[in-house]
Amino acid sequence: MRKPLIAGNWKMFLNRESAIQLAKTLADRTGDITDRDILICPAAPLLSEVSKVIAKSKIMLGAQNMYFEKEGAYTGEISADMLISVGCSYVILGHSERRHVFEEENTSINKKVRFALQEGLKPILCVGELLEEREAGRTEKVLREQMVEGLQKVPLNSIGRVTIAYEPVWAIGTGKTATPEDADANQSFIRSTLVDMYSGGVAENMRILYGGSVKPDNINGLMARENVDGALVGGASLKADSFFEIITFKAH
Ligand code: PEP
Repeated sequence: MRKPLIAGNWKMFLNRESAIQLAKTLADRTGDITDRDILICPAAPLLSEVSKVIAKSKIMLGAQNMYFEKEGAYTGEISADMLISVGCSYVILGHSERRHVFEEENTSINKKVRFALQEGLKPILCVGELLEEREAGRTEKVLREQMVEGLQKVPLNSIGRVTIAYEPVWAIGTGKTATPEDADANQSFIRSTLVDMYSGGVAENMRILYGGSVKPDNINGLMARENVDGALVGGASLKADSFFEIITFKAH
């Protein structure tokens, strides 16, 4: 049984006060939830403060990006060690905004995934097709490429610490959600690539999240699908009420 994971990606939103307030409210309201994991990923300068606020709660902390070197003259970058030192256990890597706004490619994303694992962080590797790739019938090809190249040389003994997030680029921040059927079919395809790359057991245990305009009114339908093991939530994770409603989804 895969335990669901609901993750909030706060992107470049909120400041110190609003982040602390949101984290406090979520910590207060989620105290007795044990059947699903909850993760919040604030912007880097807010991690340390938010970490203190959620320290006694079950909410876990993640970062939105990191660099693949231990330390050095890399102005503007953030190391795995820095993230761990402020309480992060997860890091989102290869988010579509990193790929398409900041031109990150599978090769550097793969270096980050491997380095995160080596340093003790759990990477959430994001994959997903562009609208034109979907319309050209290339979704599976793109997903396979992102999986194979993103996980290249990730050894069998650490693949279990990876989470995959399927985020169709056309659905992120647009209000357009993949239908539960579509998400399930593509996530089933992602799972089948893990069978080819690793084993049936690895594929079976891997948590595959859906991301792309997840809201309180579509989470239940998505979570009812066999291959949807959680959600990576952007916009709707910025308000306590909507994120709490998503966290407390009821799969039917
Ligand atoms: C995201 O940031 O990963 C995301 C899916 O954003 P949104 O929920 O706003 O589409």
